[in-house]
Amino acid sequence: MAYIQFFDTTLRDGEQTPGVNFNQQEKIQIARQLETYGVDVIEAGFPIASDGDFHSVKEIANVIKTATVCGLARSVERDIDRAYEALRDAANAQVHVFLATSDVHMKHKLNMSRPQVLASIKHHVAHARKLFPIVQFSPEDATRTDPAFLVEAVQTAIDAGATVINIPDTVGFTNPTEFGALFRYLRESIPRFDEVIFSTHCHDDLGMSVANALAAIENGARRVEGTVNGIGERAGNTALEEVAVALHIRNDYYKSESGIILNQTKKTSDLISRLSGMPVPRNKAIIGGNAYAHESGIHQDGVLKEPTTYEIITPALVGVEKNSLPLGKLSGRHAFVTRMEELGYTMTDDEEK
Ligand SMILES: [Zn+2]
Repeated sequence: MAYIQFFDTTLRDGEQTPGVNFNQQEKIQIARQLETYGVDVIEAGFPIASDGDFHSVKEIANVIKTATVCGLARSVERDIDRAYEALRDAANAQVHVFLATSDVHMKHKLNMSRPQVLASIKHHVAHARKLFPIVQFSPEDATRTDPAFLVEAVQTAIDAGATVINIPDTVGFTNPTEFGALFRYLRESIPRFDEVIFSTHCHDDLGMSVANALAAIENGARRVEGTVNGIGERAGNTALEEVAVALHIRNDYYKSESGIILNQTKKTSDLISRLSGMPVPRNKAIIGGNAYAHESGIHQDGVLKEPTTYEIITPALVGVEKNSLPLGKLSGRHAFVTRMEELGYTMTDDEEK
């Protein structure tokens, strides 16, 4: 059984959602709930970005005791040093260093050549490793990077001391078949693949972020990054609750486990929804208001006789009180009678007809 680490970036990538701003007190409340939820790593912010971000990361580092607290840093010494200042008192700390490796980013954004990018990775990962026992490196825009150059970049980071390699689908471009194949290619090309932890970070631009993350796990990823409710930049990130429940319900297939306390799912989702001001769509997997509701008469009759006829997830598993049988145009007698009984009415056979 493989253990999959959960890396939550609700407080960093999630806060990049347009219109979402958490204040420091809210960030601490979220971090505490994430720890209760069982995530392994909390990406608390980007300490160099602002004094506010720096102080939030520092406060979170002070209160979180079991999860690892992470700070983001560009491949710039002062970013890494600032992350270290914010995280030096954490019980468990890691830094997340990134640099883009795709031709389009290197040319238009960084104005750097391939050799310059490799030199920067080598220098900055080594610098980070002097300060942090756990150093995660992300080749930004990995899925649009020339695969051979991606191997060079990843190998350079590992040689410089990176302990976690995160492969981001920064722009939500890939699909599960390609992303799984990319992890297989990395596993075949990187001799020390099993000595470091490979991680996945996906975006939902094409609606495939959860499927892509699961494809990575099938092909050797041992860490999954994402956010609660899938909030994040543009169309959002991998929804961690969906990955956690998929690994649990389809354990027969994925043969993986996580530290996520599944019955904290609803409580965690509600907190993020309330503090972010982003309501969860009713039809959203796992946590949507309709996820455990059955309206068709045939489904209602089946669920009343035996829930597993139409429910693969019990509401209690994720901390939802119970399923619901809304009475609508397609509802049947069985659900109607059950509802009347719940309301305290006993119906005679004649009345039921
Ligand atoms: Zn992202």
